[in-house]
Amino acid sequence: GKARLIEGKCIACGARCQSACPVDAIEMSDAGEPIVLSDKCIGCVKCVKVCPAEAIEMFFTPEELKILEELAEQQAAGAAPVVDEEDAEEAALAKMLAAYRGVWVFVEQTEGEPATVSWELMGVGAQLAKEINTELCAIVIGHGVEHLCREAFSYGATKAYLMDQEVFRFYRTEPYLDACCHLIDKYKPEIILMGATGMGRDLAGAVATRVKTGLTADCTGLDVDDKRNLRQTRPAFGGNIMATIMCDKFRPQMATVRPHVMPMSEKKDGAAGEIVREQIALNEADILTKVIEIIRDTKVGIDIAGAEFIVSGGRGMMGPENFAMLQELADELGGVVGASRSAVDAGWMPHDRQVGQTGKTVRPKIYIACGISGAIQHLVGMQDSDVVIAINRDKDAPIFEVATYGIVGDLFQIVPAITNRLRELKA
Ligand code: FAD
Repeated sequence: GKARLIEGKCIACGARCQSACPVDAIEMSDAGEPIVLSDKCIGCVKCVKVCPAEAIEMFFTPEELKILEELAEQQAAGAAPVVDEEDAEEAALAKMLAAYRGVWVFVEQTEGEPATVSWELMGVGAQLAKEINTELCAIVIGHGVEHLCREAFSYGATKAYLMDQEVFRFYRTEPYLDACCHLIDKYKPEIILMGATGMGRDLAGAVATRVKTGLTADCTGLDVDDKRNLRQTRPAFGGNIMATIMCDKFRPQMATVRPHVMPMSEKKDGAAGEIVREQIALNEADILTKVIEIIRDTKVGIDIAGAEFIVSGGRGMMGPENFAMLQELADELGGVVGASRSAVDAGWMPHDRQVGQTGKTVRPKIYIACGISGAIQHLVGMQDSDVVIAINRDKDAPIFEVATYGIVGDLFQIVPAITNRLRELKA
């Protein structure tokens, strides 16, 4: 068909039909009415759709009308209905998504010793499972690790998928990847959470790649929307924004979370659950990576991530020598000294003391920030502390927005005053 003007209906709206025409088949008369150039018109109907006065219609030749009639007859006689491609795609997607159910937490272990981040993840996993009315399950892979299934039950899991074989004794990407993918293919979980540790980061990336799904690393917040999509929040663009990422067209939805970001879930000893035992045909000879020897790190470092009291210093400390003052306060509290990235970059403190996005995430009972401005990259690493005390001479410093108690003043006077007061109280 071709477009044509219905006489007397045009309102000279300003040539919307001409702008819509993709092949320049409309010219405008002096009166502002369209003139359709039939030899150029391709019958795309765009001009008809945009006309606000319904002044353009489609005109068909007798041959075209005949074809249209025949098509209408075929449809009326029960010929296959024309399937809307988009609807079909949506239906297929909904069917695929519905096949995946359950929230799984990977229980990380080294020689049978669980990583505490796994139990932290059980807490948030239980909340997610409750919201979407599904079960919370543990994935336990290793050798001689059945006790971890029972421990997972005490932290809230109701089912544990156990893969207990000699080849899983030491963590290596290939066998753990095969084990995880075997479980995913067979039991189709909706959500998988892993700790953002060396092992978790390695395994999660490999699994997501093989099962062709999305993965959000280092999440600081997790919840679900009304379509069962996992809303995965994490700092993005250098920490300047908090992005909420979703993986709405693929399953499982995978996320890693750093240790101490989520609160520890409550332990209920003796809780029961179902253990599902699985095996795969995998021999040591099939695995390229070999563990020759395990050399333990004997260096006793300071664990700021697990500390209950942290006194942190930033660029406002003015130099490395002044951190002794923070150490004195930390000693009185039985805590440790942390630092902002500026202090670490300046060489005043080692990197293992850095708190923040590219350092450690901490959750102490008391966090005292001294001479730290409170950049978002620092805040994401400490804002979940029970109590934050900020000491800064700039009353507008962003650290005060997350502080429970803010002290505006010179830290070189305030910190020794607090230390002395604590000593007096103890004396
Ligand atoms: P400044 O911002 O310079 O603040 C110093 C503060 O000290 C000021 O507020 C000042 O008022 C106060 N002050 C000065 N003298 C005194 C005094 N005598 N008494 C009281 N107050 C005083 N930062 C981190 O900390 N951790 C991270 O993990 C981290 N990761 C990052 C990752 C990326 C990708 C990027 C782009 C940045 C990252 N940063 C990180 C850096 C961050 O953006 C800030 O630059 C940094 O946190 C600032 O450190 P600061 O607060 O010590 O220094």
